[in-house]
Amino acid sequence: SSHSHHNQHHHNHHNHHQLTIFDKIINKEIPAQIVYEDDKCLAFKDVSPQAPVHILLIPKVKDGLTQLQKAEERHKDILGHLMLKVADIAHQNNLKEGYRVVINDGKLGCQSVYHLHLHILGGTQMGWPPG
Ligand code: 5GP
Repeated sequence: SSHSHHNQHHHNHHNHHQLTIFDKIINKEIPAQIVYEDDKCLAFKDVSPQAPVHILLIPKVKDGLTQLQKAEERHKDILGHLMLKVADIAHQNNLKEGYRVVINDGKLGCQSVYHLHLHILGGTQMGWPPG
């Protein structure tokens, strides 16, 4: 419900330094449909897909990167790595004719998990503006 979503967001908002559900996915403590993995990042299907293809791409080591606005110089390598992997992952998932890449940042950006992640969405004509 929107109520529980609000509570989860509220909870995370005050726990940016703590583990999130994504750490459990990284550590294979809970299952996920992994579509790509290397030493630095992990890509898996979103449990609540907002498009026919909806993949989340995350750094394995958070290092304070709870959200994009926390990015600092030391994160340049991982940020570049994530951006460079998007096209490979999209193409491997048959998003040949285009797709959407989204980073929700903070409360007004509708971020709910405070571990940086890129949404890769596609498999249909995406709309604009996103709302
Ligand atoms: P945000 O709202 O923070 O930009 O995106 C978080 C995303 O993580 C949401 O799209 C949500 O569906 C997804 N998500 C939350 N928990 C899980 C989970 O346990 N497994 C998977 N695969 N996705 C999750």
